[in-house]
Amino acid sequence: MGEQNRPEVGDWDPARFESHGEDLLRLLGDHFRHIRQTPVSRPSTVAEVLAQFDPAPPQTPDDFGQILADTERAVIPHLVQWNHPSFHAYFANSGSFAGILADTMISALNVNAMVWQSAPAASALETLVLGWMADMVGYPGSADGVLLNGASLATFYALVAARDSLPGLRVREQGIGGPGSPRLRLYTSEQGHSSVEKAAIALGLGLDNVVRITTDDQYRMRPEALAEAVAADLAAGHRPMAVVATVGTTTTGALDPVERIHQVCRGHGLWLHVDGAYGGFWRMVPRLAGVLPDLRGCDSLVVNPHKCLYAPMEVTALYCRRRDALANSFRLVPEYLRTDPGDAATDFMDRSLQLGRSFRALKLWWIIRGYGIQGLRARLERSADLADGLREQVAREPHWEIPASSPLPLVCLRHRPPGAKTEEEVDCANESIVHDLNASGEVFLSHGRTRAGYTIRVSIGNIRTSEEDVAKLWAALRRSAARLAENYPSNPRMIE
Ligand SMILES: *Cc1c(COP(=O)(O)O)cnc(C)c1O
Repeated sequence: MGEQNRPEVGDWDPARFESHGEDLLRLLGDHFRHIRQTPVSRPSTVAEVLAQFDPAPPQTPDDFGQILADTERAVIPHLVQWNHPSFHAYFANSGSFAGILADTMISALNVNAMVWQSAPAASALETLVLGWMADMVGYPGSADGVLLNGASLATFYALVAARDSLPGLRVREQGIGGPGSPRLRLYTSEQGHSSVEKAAIALGLGLDNVVRITTDDQYRMRPEALAEAVAADLAAGHRPMAVVATVGTTTTGALDPVERIHQVCRGHGLWLHVDGAYGGFWRMVPRLAGVLPDLRGCDSLVVNPHKCLYAPMEVTALYCRRRDALANSFRLVPEYLRTDPGDAATDFMDRSLQLGRSFRALKLWWIIRGYGIQGLRARLERSADLADGLREQVAREPHWEIPASSPLPLVCLRHRPPGAKTEEEVDCANESIVHDLNASGEVFLSHGRTRAGYTIRVSIGNIRTSEEDVAKLWAALRRSAARLAENYPSNPRMIE
């Protein structure tokens, strides 16, 4: 092979890296500058999206300018713009500029934060930001913590620790099952997150051992029903293992009565895990601090900075006030990882299944420093204010109703077309509105099912969402409802 045909080795020259980086930043600057003129989403078929990409990998290098241009042309328009101020679906998590830049720094340094010695300042910063965030959400700063990729895995790890803390049961050593071993039971409300069930699958508990506790008229777990379920299980010879309470349920933002649930748990030595993935950080808003449950007593807690604290995906914080419970489940040190860094050092690999770990702490350090506690609080408070304002407007408007209310900025609403004769027709109308608006690209919404039926969910929490954006959303909702009314009652638009 001739010298000139040999593929280049080694990486790009730093000057080239810098020049491409400038091009990327310019593209992103423009993206954010014009984001309000960009559709939040565009309807496209699976085939259209797949057709954007050349299926064959290039044998020789593509020009970076071309890669960037193709990303702008073929990728970005076929995403949903989660950072768009009119994104109100699911939970409106958004990446802040400080967090976006931090992610570049994290990739550039590319350390593996598995043990203290593999990246000392990464472990030190992880301890630091975990302490800061514990304070923000009202959890003891002395608790063990760890940064993870998401709340689902955090809940799984917490439940592993709960299982391994059961006296007399040595699942970690002996495994589960065996004749005569008791059925381990897990309790969450009927509104609890599906990650609890996924954890039961992975733990080998089985879905049949997840007990769904009924909720009250505000979708909160009923502690009396929990107490009855635990008593019935004990009478049946089962072994209650843990309760998962939710602060900010996915469908309606309901707040389980954590203190009363805790009383039931204490009576039976039951582990209480709180899923505060959505609700946790809203405690920073002064008027919500008194409304949200006190979390200090719960055995473990998960909160999602990638949901509410403007951190780009993926970063979740798991806390456990039972010192060493996580490590008692997950510490397993092969010879090549044995180090002796000293007493104050934490080896974060001991607190989950993950060995190789990215430097997630840096983006939280940049975000908290980049906006300040007061700045973060002001931004969260603005979202809460915008949601309250929208709720008030909906409540005043004829033919609109609020099937479930939460102090958190998740607004549940439902349109009742004057011509609708059955609840099915009302469901269809609301489904039409969501489809209509999402197809318009103006706003992006998702839905849930409440006791009232199909319910439109409006999550307000994006760092860029302003009063004008929420006004635009409310106008779009009413416009869509009005269009629907023109078709009633002769031709109700049903979703096929
Ligand atoms: C978002 C959410 C989860 C799942 O979080 P991931 O980080 O996506 O795994 C779990 N529970 C609740 C209440 C949530 O809002």
